[in-house]
Amino acid sequence: MNLFEQYPVSITNSLSGRKELFTPINPPFVGLYSCGPTVYNEVHLGNLRTFTAFDVVFRYLTHIGYKVRYVRNITDAGHLTNDAGEGVDRIEERAKLERLEPMEVVQKYTYGFHEVCRIFNILPPSVEPTATGHIVEQIEMVKRILNNGFAYEKNGSVYFDVRKFMEKHKYGELSGRNIDDLLEGTRELDAQEEKKNSVDFAIWKAVTPSHIQRWPSPWGDGIPGWHLECSAMGTKYLGKEFDIHGGGMDLKFPHHECEIAQSVGAYGHAPVRYWMHSNMLTVNGEKMSKSKGNSFLPRELFAGEHPLLDKAYSPMSVRFFMLQSHYSSTLDFSNEALGAAEKGYRKLNAALVAIKAMDYSTVTTPNNELVGEITQLTGECYRTMSDDFNTAKTLAVLFEMASRINDFKSGNTPTGSVDALTFEKLKATFISMMEEVLGLVEDKTANNDLLEGTINVLIELRKKVRADRNYALSDKIRDDLQAIGVQLKDGKGGEISYTIE
Ligand code: AMP
Ligand code: ZN
Repeated sequence: MNLFEQYPVSITNSLSGRKELFTPINPPFVGLYSCGPTVYNEVHLGNLRTFTAFDVVFRYLTHIGYKVRYVRNITDAGHLTNDAGEGVDRIEERAKLERLEPMEVVQKYTYGFHEVCRIFNILPPSVEPTATGHIVEQIEMVKRILNNGFAYEKNGSVYFDVRKFMEKHKYGELSGRNIDDLLEGTRELDAQEEKKNSVDFAIWKAVTPSHIQRWPSPWGDGIPGWHLECSAMGTKYLGKEFDIHGGGMDLKFPHHECEIAQSVGAYGHAPVRYWMHSNMLTVNGEKMSKSKGNSFLPRELFAGEHPLLDKAYSPMSVRFFMLQSHYSSTLDFSNEALGAAEKGYRKLNAALVAIKAMDYSTVTTPNNELVGEITQLTGECYRTMSDDFNTAKTLAVLFEMASRINDFKSGNTPTGSVDALTFEKLKATFISMMEEVLGLVEDKTANNDLLEGTINVLIELRKKVRADRNYALSDKIRDDLQAIGVQLKDGKGGEISYTIE
């Protein structure tokens, strides 16, 4: 029996607003799409919360036996400065600002994004398509929508005709917007614009020859519409109908609403069975965003160099911090919360290191109660993860398991108090839940109490010899530590901190 049959997954579907049993179209295959970054600047911690949330969905579904094709795109053209589909191409604008070719901008921030994903242990998706690599598919989709009568061309741009679409289909169901009201309220403004209605959106946008980013099309040179990119790439790799589409809550409207309308407009049916939306990372209750100036970058976090940060935090502590809340709740940043997450992660990491090194000893006195407890806990991890990917509850179960592991480690309870199978189940489940499912890998630098204690002894010794003006010995301690990968940093106030390579 597959784990996914043993622990059936339920997902809160944004379409219905309810938790639903997950039944893939073609099990054991699962098609998963999540909107990737627009590579015109560095990703901030808010973006990473969303990418981490869907990384865990990908990891867990794979772990329980599904064959997941995970598509996460790179938006390298067509995302305009205004999300409503106006303004200029973000990449083009950034290229002018940095005096680079648009594709240099794209390369720079794509590499940066991949590097950050590697550091945070966010797995590469199965397919990472770029918008510029799929211009042909996008033009084909625009043609289909035009042929079906749900779009119109104006001055080389093609707009989706929301009013026309609504004569036959529903629009606004995902986000719960009342589009009738929007249509009523904006009628008089229409004459000033190319669009018939302000809710209409560009699926192909004409650009002037001064733009470097532009492609030929039946309607003249232009760029694809941002919403259309995801529709075209999702369809290409996952089919006209696929299982799960994810993204941040802020993308529900208009981005995802438009994706649905485009697929219905092109192929006559909705593209996605389950829509999942992860909630925002906030700072003092406000969405973290670059434009608000309350965002910080991963590298600022690791260096502790940002006015909002009291100190540096390790990537795994930050990942733990994100997983400590359910993806559908907002998560508020604070130094206290990050500090607590660091402690929490260290505890679990210590248990991870311990159980990896632990072997089963021969049976002493069988303890049926303990066997029962451990069996319950190992199942509970799967029940909590299958319950709408509840990482918060799963971490709570892992803490319980860590206590049992610590009892074994301290020798209070010999491993032989349980049968070999139960011990091996605890070991395998704890390691795979931590590393494979939650992506919380062993951080050799974050946790080793013994190592930390030893370095601190050496730091104190170095302070002492320096106070005694024995600089040769002080330098030797520093240099010898450096040679084995421990870097001491002298602070302004005489404090000494360290990092381990
Ligand atoms: P963008 O590169 O702007 O298209 O955003 C990439 C992803 O980050 C999208 O799925 C957004 O929903 C998500 N995102 C942006 N800001 C936040 C935030 N403060 N918290 C969580 N996710 C966010
Ligand atoms: Zn998208």
